[in-house]
Amino acid sequence: MENENPTKNDRGGSERPRKSFNFYWIYGVIIVVILSIQLMQLSGGTRPIEINEYERYLNSGDVRRIDIVNDETVLVTIKKDSLAKKVHTDKLGKEAAGNSAGPHYRFTIGNSDAAQNKLVASADAHGVEMNYETQDNWGRDIIQWVLFIGIMLAVWMFFMRRLGGGGGPGGQIFNIGKSRAQVFEAGKSTNITFNDVAGLDEAKEELQEIVDFLKTPKKYTALGAKIPKGALLVGPPGTGKTLLAKAIAGEANVPFFSLSGSDFVEMFVGVGASRVRDLFKQAKEKAPAIIFIDEIDAIGRARGRSVSMGANDERENTLNQLLTEMDGFGTNSGVILIGATNRADVLDRALMRPGRFDRQIFVDMPDLNGRIDIFKVHLKPLKLDTALDVEFLARQTPGFSGADIANICNEAALIAARKKKTHVEKQDFLDAVDRVIGGLEKKNKIITADEKRGVAYHEAGHATVSWLVEHASPLIKVTIVPRGRSLGAAWYLPEERHLTTAEQMLDEICAALGGRAAEDVMFGKVSTGALSDLEKVTKQAYAMVSVYGLNAKVGNISFYDSTGQSEYSFGKPYSERTAQTIDEEVSKLVEIQYERAKKILVENKDKLTALASQLLEKEVIFKEDLEKIFGDRTFARDVAERTAAANSNGTTVGGPAPTPDETPSLPASA
Ligand code: ADP
Ligand code: ZN
Repeated sequence: MENENPTKNDRGGSERPRKSFNFYWIYGVIIVVILSIQLMQLSGGTRPIEINEYERYLNSGDVRRIDIVNDETVLVTIKKDSLAKKVHTDKLGKEAAGNSAGPHYRFTIGNSDAAQNKLVASADAHGVEMNYETQDNWGRDIIQWVLFIGIMLAVWMFFMRRLGGGGGPGGQIFNIGKSRAQVFEAGKSTNITFNDVAGLDEAKEELQEIVDFLKTPKKYTALGAKIPKGALLVGPPGTGKTLLAKAIAGEANVPFFSLSGSDFVEMFVGVGASRVRDLFKQAKEKAPAIIFIDEIDAIGRARGRSVSMGANDERENTLNQLLTEMDGFGTNSGVILIGATNRADVLDRALMRPGRFDRQIFVDMPDLNGRIDIFKVHLKPLKLDTALDVEFLARQTPGFSGADIANICNEAALIAARKKKTHVEKQDFLDAVDRVIGGLEKKNKIITADEKRGVAYHEAGHATVSWLVEHASPLIKVTIVPRGRSLGAAWYLPEERHLTTAEQMLDEICAALGGRAAEDVMFGKVSTGALSDLEKVTKQAYAMVSVYGLNAKVGNISFYDSTGQSEYSFGKPYSERTAQTIDEEVSKLVEIQYERAKKILVENKDKLTALASQLLEKEVIFKEDLEKIFGDRTFARDVAERTAAANSNGTTVGGPAPTPDETPSLPASA
C-alpha cells in the first residue's frame, strides 16, 4: 500500500514551484503589532509617574499645565525653568527635558468624581492651567482591528487548506472539485511487477490480458475486438488487490492513477461528481493509463432506498457521474478502470453490467500453496535461520491473508531483533503468529489463583468437548497465557470445507459452549468469560435457522439478502410470528447443545480435571498432550489422517498437526 516515488499530481503547470503557505507570517504580524505599540508609547514622549510624585511637583510649583484626557489620563507639562531641575533631568533624560513644550509626564486617575474634583481643586490652588480633552485612541483601535482581521484571515486560511486537501498549488478552495488521485508516472512509477505478487495465478492471468492491451492495443483492435473498460478486483481485505493493480501499472508501463472511493466523498454537493470528471479528464490526457479506485463500494453502493437523505443524494450523483464517464470513454481511449472492493454484493448493478466493469476477478484468501509463495516473497529481505521450513510456517497460518503474512514476517524480525539474535528463527515466527492473532502476551497481568483456575477449566472444557465430538475442528493448542484482551485460548485448525452440514455446525456450537459448561459442571457457577463464545454461538445459531434453512420448524427458507439492500430497511423480511419462532428455535437449539456439552463433561470429569491441572502447570499444552490424556481420536477422519501421516513418514513438527486448513481460524478466546 506504500507508494514508491509518488510524483505529485500537478496538472498542467508542472514546474510551478509549490508555494507552501505557512503560519510564520502570523508571528510576523504579532511582532509588528508589539513593536508598533512600543513605538506609539515612545512617540507620546511622556513618562509615567505616580500621583504622589505629581503632587510633589505641584507643591514645588513646577507644574505649568495639565491635560485631562478622557477623564482618566492626566498629562503633565512642567514649567520651562523648572525643567532644568535635577529631579526632571534624571527622570526625563537630557533631550526630553530640553523639550519645553511638553507634556512631560502622565498618570492615571480613577474616573470617580471625587478624585477629579480633588485634582481640579489642587491644580486651581497652584494656578495651573487646565485643559480637558477627549482623545480618540485611534492607535489602540487600529491595533485591535489589525489583530481581528489577522485572526480571521488565519482561520479562513486554515479551513481553506483543509478543504483543498493540501493538494495542488496553494491547495485552496478552487481545487475542491479536482480529483485527488495520486499519479504514478509511466516508467518511474511502480516498480512492482507480477513477480512480487505471490499466488493468485488465475487473477494474474486475467490481468495479463489487460497489460497486453495497454502495451500493444493494435493487436486487439486490428481484429475488431473490444477491450474491457474495467476490471473489478473482489476479495477480502489484505489479499493483494492493491498490489495487483500496482503490478499491472508496473508491467504495462503506463501512468497509474490511484485513489480510494472515499476520496470522492465530501460534504459539499456536487464535489464528488466533479472530482470524477476531473479524474477521467486527466487520465485521458495521459492515455494509455490506468485508474485504480480502491474501496469502490464507498461510491458504488446500490442506489435508491436512501435512509439519510442528503448524504445519499450526493453519493448517487457521484456514482452517476462515474457511470457516465465509463460509458463516455471509448473502448479505444486507452483508459482502463480497475476497482477493488471486498463487498461486490453491495455494488450497484449498473456498475457491473457489461461495458463497465465487465470483468470480475476474485482475489481469494490464499490456500496453503499460496501462503507458501507469499511467505517466500516476504521472507526474502529477512536474514533467516537456514533450518527454517517455509511450509511449516504456511501450515501454522490458516486463514491468514497476504497482508497478515507480510505483517508476521516483519513482526518475527522485530521479535528476533529484540532478543538480539543474528537470524530470525522458527520460534520468532511462532511468537509472531501468536502475537498477531492474540495480541501481546501479558505476563504480568494480575490474575488471582481462582481466576486462573476458572480460565483453565474453561479452556479445558473447550478442548475436551471438541476432542470428543466428531465434527469440531481439531485442536492444536490450548493456552491460559493472557494475551491481548483474552485470558486464555483454545486454537483450532479448521479443516478445508466448502459445505458444512447441520451436524458439523451443531458440533461446533457444542464445542464453543464447552467452556461455560465446564465452569458450570466444576464450580456450579458461570462467569462473564464466555462472552465471545456466546456471541459466536448466537450468530451461528441464528444463521442456521434463518439463513441456511437448517431448522425443521422454520423450514427451507432463507432470509439472507445477497444484494445488501436490506441493510437500509428497518423492517424485517418476516412476520412477527416467524420472528418469534426463529427466536424460540435458536434458543432451543443452543440449550440442547449446552446440555450436551455438560453431559460430555460430566461423563469425562476425570479427563477434564487432568487437562485443567496440566494447563495450570504448563500454561500451554499441545495436541500431543491431549492425546496422552484422551487417547487417539477414533473418528473416521482422524484414523484416515493417521494412516496417511504414517505412510508419508510424518511431518509433524513441534506440536500442531498438519491438517488441511483452509478456513479462517480464530482462537476461541476465554
Ligand atoms: P488489499 O488491497 O487487497 O486490501 P493490499 O494489496 O494492500 O491488500 O495488500 C497489503 C499487503 O499485503 C501488500 O502490500 C503485500 O505486502 C501483502 N500481500 C498481500 N497479498 C499478497 C500476495 N499475494 N503476494 C505478496 N504480498 C501480498
Ligand atoms: Zn471460551
